[in-house]
Amino acid sequence: MAEDFDVFDDGAVGVYLHLPFCERICPYCDFAVVAAPELGAGREARYVSNLLTELKARRSDFEGRALASLYFGGGTPSLFTPQSIRELALAVGAAFAERGDDAAGGRVPEIETTLEVNPSTIEWARLPDFRAAGINRLSIGVQSFNDTLLKRLGRAHRAPIARETLCAARAAGFDNLSIDLIFAAPGESQGDLARDLDELLEWEPEHISTYELTFEPETPFGRALAAGKMNSCDEDLAADMTLQIEGRLKASGFGRYEISNYSRGEETRSQHNQRYWQRQAVLGLGMGAHSAEARSAGLPHGARRANPRRLGEWEERIRTDPARTGDEERLSVAGSRGEAVFLALRQAEGLSALRFEAEFGGSPRVFFEAEIEAMIRRGWLIEGGRVAGDLRLSDLGRLLADDVAAEFVAAV
Ligand code: SF4
Repeated sequence: MAEDFDVFDDGAVGVYLHLPFCERICPYCDFAVVAAPELGAGREARYVSNLLTELKARRSDFEGRALASLYFGGGTPSLFTPQSIRELALAVGAAFAERGDDAAGGRVPEIETTLEVNPSTIEWARLPDFRAAGINRLSIGVQSFNDTLLKRLGRAHRAPIARETLCAARAAGFDNLSIDLIFAAPGESQGDLARDLDELLEWEPEHISTYELTFEPETPFGRALAAGKMNSCDEDLAADMTLQIEGRLKASGFGRYEISNYSRGEETRSQHNQRYWQRQAVLGLGMGAHSAEARSAGLPHGARRANPRRLGEWEERIRTDPARTGDEERLSVAGSRGEAVFLALRQAEGLSALRFEAEFGGSPRVFFEAEIEAMIRRGWLIEGGRVAGDLRLSDLGRLLADDVAAEFVAAV
């Protein structure tokens, strides 16, 4: 399998299924979501059926690729029944063979299969059945163990429910848990964060994702900030919190392998999410899902496809042209160069000059001389490593990763 793929393409595909429903919408949330206090069997069945139609119609774009990862994201995918999740996993297993298999087996995949879960009573009761349905990794949206902060963030759950969900996950046999933590929430102090980190580490997760709270303009929090009714965290305090997290997690045996992600070892890094940062193929299905089409197969720099963010619009596309649910954006060579640099810099390994040169025909300095020089002078970038010309972010650069990305994007 995959003999035709070049060195930049691992010949595999990750499959992402977006299940957009949430009990209620958090006021800072900018994802493609639908409020569904009661999901209802009819609505769930219709969504699953549409996903199956889209999978069948779009799998040929990724023909011959080995299945590398499967990810159920949302929304709150764990609102779906284990039966629905199993049906979807089986369909993906029937569409793509795993590496080493001669043909798609039609069984539940054995590769990393992640389900995002929110702490709630309904969901923890279902965890053993999700395990039996083939889920082998959970990403749990704990966000904080501090009820005051959870309330301020508008979250539906409270800390005792998060603790019960974590206990239930281990009891159900999940040995690959990722916990999400939000920091720099309104009014949060470094003492609050220290207590959150202490408790987080007591649960001994295999993986941790940490996100600074952002105020996106189209959200209730963003509008409240613009109207002066809310304050965001002070920039210096947010930077100190980032360093506090990094120091505490590193001291506890976690490695930061990507700006927002830490794992105990290489084997517990998120296989699926690494596909995005390493610019590998991903088939995204469902409302608002994004696909990354491969860099081979006639598209030298690949393409992206974004599905409509409105449920009715996505359903309409499923009815009319399920093979083309989202519009294709072909990446230009210049756009790809910028993307290759800043996605590599998000990762601890940084940018390999040799790899970049092999793909684009010149070293990073050939295309970004002025930007690289300026950012080294400012102390944002470090040059050198395994090979002269390799680039990675400095401690300061990691705090300013969005600014670094903006500089490379502006330069293309
Ligand atoms: S639970 Fe997650 S996906 Fe759902 S509204 Fe809240 S932040 Fe958004």
